[in-house]
Amino acid sequence: MVYKKIKIKRLLSDPVSGQNIKVNGWVRTKRESKNVVFVALNDGSGLANLQIVADPGKFSELLLKDITTGACISVNGTLVESHGKGQQVELQAESIEVLGKSDPDSYPLQPKKHSLEFLREIAHLRPRTNTFSAIYRIRHAMIFAVHQFFNEKGFLNIHTPIITASDAEGAGEMFRVSTLDPKNPPLLEDGTIDFSLDFFERETNLTVSGQLEAELGALALSEVYTFGPTFRAENSNTTRHLAEFWMIEPEMAFYDLEDNMDLAEEFLKYLIRYALEKCAEDLEFLNQRAAEEEMSRRQEDRYELSLIERLKFVIDNNFERITYTEAIQILMESKPNRKKKFQFLIERWGTDLQSEHERYLVEKHFRKPVILSDYPKEIKAFYMRMNEDGITVRAMDILFPGIGEIVGGSQREERMDQLRRRMQEMEINAEGLWWYLDTRKFGTAPHSGFGLGFERFLQFITGMNNIRDVIPFPRTPGNADF
Ligand code: ATP
Ligand code: MN
Repeated sequence: MVYKKIKIKRLLSDPVSGQNIKVNGWVRTKRESKNVVFVALNDGSGLANLQIVADPGKFSELLLKDITTGACISVNGTLVESHGKGQQVELQAESIEVLGKSDPDSYPLQPKKHSLEFLREIAHLRPRTNTFSAIYRIRHAMIFAVHQFFNEKGFLNIHTPIITASDAEGAGEMFRVSTLDPKNPPLLEDGTIDFSLDFFERETNLTVSGQLEAELGALALSEVYTFGPTFRAENSNTTRHLAEFWMIEPEMAFYDLEDNMDLAEEFLKYLIRYALEKCAEDLEFLNQRAAEEEMSRRQEDRYELSLIERLKFVIDNNFERITYTEAIQILMESKPNRKKKFQFLIERWGTDLQSEHERYLVEKHFRKPVILSDYPKEIKAFYMRMNEDGITVRAMDILFPGIGEIVGGSQREERMDQLRRRMQEMEINAEGLWWYLDTRKFGTAPHSGFGLGFERFLQFITGMNNIRDVIPFPRTPGNADF
């Protein structure tokens, strides 16, 4: 007899009774009586388990004993219509092989609800749960959709370096890359480390952004994007920060700030539409999960809309576009500011916005995503294009409900003299960035770009409150297990 190997999702999407098939997967549960054994098998291809039915008379007791929650088995059998509740078809087992036993007493994933905190401690096993397998599948679909979106538009994907000698943000919260002996590094006369003896003969770090190199791409290839890991050694233990996260950074020549906003809005809506279309089953599950979790939150912290309603709401509405100056006006006059309910009160034009302010604008004032533009130059990076007023720059941040900033972008300063002036003012080392400045010297062009934090976006799509739950192996302060 020939058994055709097939994934459970594919099998269930087009079940034909009578076919002889082979499935492999992990046992979620086993129920047995004198006359029959039922096994719920999952291979990660979808939420639904395949019900395996075995006649205990046909199999050795020893084999059946090894079929426990967590064990990995391979089953050959015939697909038959199911008379039981909850499934259309089931697999009548002809032969079963236990590929990997699992000790039922010490297996951490029991068939019950586990807390997310506990699951983070067993991140090596959590993809075997419904919640995390759904998140992994959505994450994959979104990666695919990102590439599809840009490919359809004719953007080129470029890989920007992970090890760099420049600090794109000038923020200095970076992880050093070095092969020097930490116990005995070579020193200069003044006692500082002599990096000229290091691997790259200079000080190097893990990148905080691929933007500067993406700009080089845009100024030759017109429209490019990078999608890679970025690293920030900021010691912020929040639900929105990781030390290692993935960022999508498109960079476009001949785009002004308006064009940049249009692209970002179209991009976000495209991804959400893709998720609603292609991940319907997983989203339905997470929708239910989020609804249950909402019930345990304080009334005033609850969302008015369900997860899926929020996704549809973003697609159906134009993002509100206002300037930083207008936002400050709104915030200064807002109730939480007047009643001193904000942790950081807004007292004057020029202060940086905190996540609480961003969320107020999105969730309370406008009740839709907001694009804030034209920030004071003091709170933004050196490469953003100076406005006529000489005090604001062509920056734009996109703010989302529940998250705050999800996208940060700008029109870039393409004029050499302005750029040099800003670098001087902000004490950015121009020598190290000679290659960046060269693009302004040789055929400069107006250009723009933005960065979408992939995990922040996934938080929005999946409704997960903690960013640690939307990346397989989160890296946070004090945490690099797995
Ligand atoms: P925040 O003020 O929220 O820390 P940022 O101003 O440092 O963000 P940018 O430097 O503009 O953010 O980075 C671009 C995008 O990358 C952000 O809009 C956000 O989506 C994402 N991002 C930034 N820092 C992190 C982080 N530590 N973990 C996960 N995503 C991040
Ligand atoms: Mn930050």
